[in-house]
Amino acid sequence: MSEATPKLKVGMYWAASCGGCDISLLEIGPRLIDLIQVADVVFWPCAADFKYQHVADYPDGHIDVCFYNGSIRTSEQEELARLLRKKAKCLVAYGSCAGDGGIPALANLKDTKGIFDASYHNNPSIDNPDGVEPQHIVETEFGQLEIPVFYDQVIRLKDVVQVDYEIPGCPPQADQVWKVIGLVASGAVPLRNAALRVGCDDKSICDECHREKRNTRITAFHRPHEIIPDPDHCLLEQGVVCLGPATRSGCGGLCTKAGLPCRGCYGPAGKVVDMGTAMISAIGSLIDTEDEEVARKLVAQIADPTGTFYRFSLGSSHLKARK
Ligand code: SF4
Repeated sequence: MSEATPKLKVGMYWAASCGGCDISLLEIGPRLIDLIQVADVVFWPCAADFKYQHVADYPDGHIDVCFYNGSIRTSEQEELARLLRKKAKCLVAYGSCAGDGGIPALANLKDTKGIFDASYHNNPSIDNPDGVEPQHIVETEFGQLEIPVFYDQVIRLKDVVQVDYEIPGCPPQADQVWKVIGLVASGAVPLRNAALRVGCDDKSICDECHREKRNTRITAFHRPHEIIPDPDHCLLEQGVVCLGPATRSGCGGLCTKAGLPCRGCYGPAGKVVDMGTAMISAIGSLIDTEDEEVARKLVAQIADPTGTFYRFSLGSSHLKARK
């Protein structure tokens, strides 16, 4: 990037997510100073006091690149997705929640009633004797208050508007984020694209993992805290459910280097459409039995298979939600 390049107008929005994506943008560290030399931030509610009305008042296409992180859980988040699509030349689904539904999409295993029951009623830490729940419209002595509608299911950004790029990860890695900003700022990639993923490739995490596959069969499954794994041997072959075979590469195998299994935050690799079925296939080829009953008992040791296999990708899976 050079100072002679006209300044980009950049935006960042936080929808249904944990806030880690906003922090990951800050993780580019001292390069933020380089960024502000080539870009003006014109919308970033997490970092500066921008109002939605400021965005609504911008001419269409005013924002060069807008990063949208988080999935869509409420009518407010959908409204902002549509508004930002109009105001941004390039709309980027930033992080696994925007791209694949992320952790919030796991709540799609319940409907609104189930979520409200768990959040406001049936939970040991809740003190709610009047059974109060959020209401879309509330009459108060000061007038009528309206809060966003809570949707029955979480949806992805691309379920609502056209997305130009996706940067996967929970959260995306700082080096990748910087690479993408550089590509856009230098004009190396078109601002409009057909949801191309950047900062990753179609290989799987296994392709960039340092751990050796030794064709060892799985005889038992363990949660990560239950064993001290061999630091050089494939975790899956040691019975720790690692989503490496089904997950897109790009993070550099950070978790497996640290002795933890890949949790799938970069989303489905290559031709994988559904991470759960890809993992069932991978595990099926590794378990050490041909006896169906023994196999059934063995896979029953996997804790929370749906939450494990679809931790970040239920919104993009064949299941999508509880029907
Ligand atoms: Fe590495 Fe996990 Fe793949 Fe094994 S399954 S090679 S630990 S990424």
